[in-house]
Amino acid sequence: MPSPRRRRILLWTWVGLFAFLIVAITFLRIGRHKFDAPDPVRGSVMRVHGQVSDFFGAKADGRVLLFDAGADPEGRGLDALLAALKATREDVSDIFFTHGHGDHVAAAPLCPRARLHGGAADAEMMSKRGPVVPSFARFMGLVLPVPAVNLTDAFHGSGDVPVGGGKSVIAVPFPGHTPGSMIYLYDGVLFAGDSMNFEKDKLTFAFAPFSVDTKLNKERIRALPSLFKLEDIKIVCTAHGGCTSESQTRKLLDDLIARAAS
Ligand SMILES: [Zn+2]
Repeated sequence: MPSPRRRRILLWTWVGLFAFLIVAITFLRIGRHKFDAPDPVRGSVMRVHGQVSDFFGAKADGRVLLFDAGADPEGRGLDALLAALKATREDVSDIFFTHGHGDHVAAAPLCPRARLHGGAADAEMMSKRGPVVPSFARFMGLVLPVPAVNLTDAFHGSGDVPVGGGKSVIAVPFPGHTPGSMIYLYDGVLFAGDSMNFEKDKLTFAFAPFSVDTKLNKERIRALPSLFKLEDIKIVCTAHGGCTSESQTRKLLDDLIARAAS
C-alpha cells in the first residue's frame, strides 16, 4: 500500500497530465483555424502558414492548384490563400496531397471541382476505410477530426501531370512518413509535406513518432539525385517548417542527402 504522501504525488501527477492534455487539445482545436496572411514563395506559388500546418496554392494557365489542403475543415486559411490568388473554391482544379494525414487534407471537400491527386497507398487512410498510420498519428485524428477524402487520381508510381501552359507537376512516390507519401515539383518548388522538415536552418528527415518507416524515408532522400535534377529544385517547402530560401536550397539539400547516406 503506497504511503499517503506517494498517493498524493501520484494523484497530482495524473491531474497535471490531464490538465496538460486538455490545454494541448484546446490549443490544437482552436489553432487549426488560425493562419497568417498568405505570402509569395516563387512564381505564382503562395504559402499559407497555419498554426497546425502550412499548405500552398499556385496558378497555372487559368487553373488553380493546391498542394495539400491544411487542417481546417471550414477552410479559413484556404479562402485567404484563394483570395490572394484571386480565385474561388470553385476554381480549384487540382489538389496534390503530400500524404493522407488529417492536418494536410481537411479543406479538400470544400473545392467541388478539384481532381484529388495522392499516393494510392494512402487512399484508404484518407477515405477512412483504413486506419490512420502510424498508430501514434491516430491520436491527432481524434483531436482534429476531418472529413473523408476520396482520391480521384491515385498515383501508383511517378507521374507527370500537365497543368496547362506547357507546365506540369512532377509527382514522385516518397514512402516513409506514410506508405503513400508523395513529393511534387512545380515551378521550381519542391513540396515535401512531412517527408522533410526545415528546422533551425537545416533540412531534416521525417519526424519519427509520426512516420511509418524512417529508414525508407532516408533511403528516398538519399535517392533524390536520381529522382530529380537537383538544379531544378529552387526552393523546398515543408508542411511544418516553412520553405528554404532560394540561395540556400542547394546547399541544404546536398547536406541532407549527405546525412542520409552516412
Ligand atoms: Zn504527416
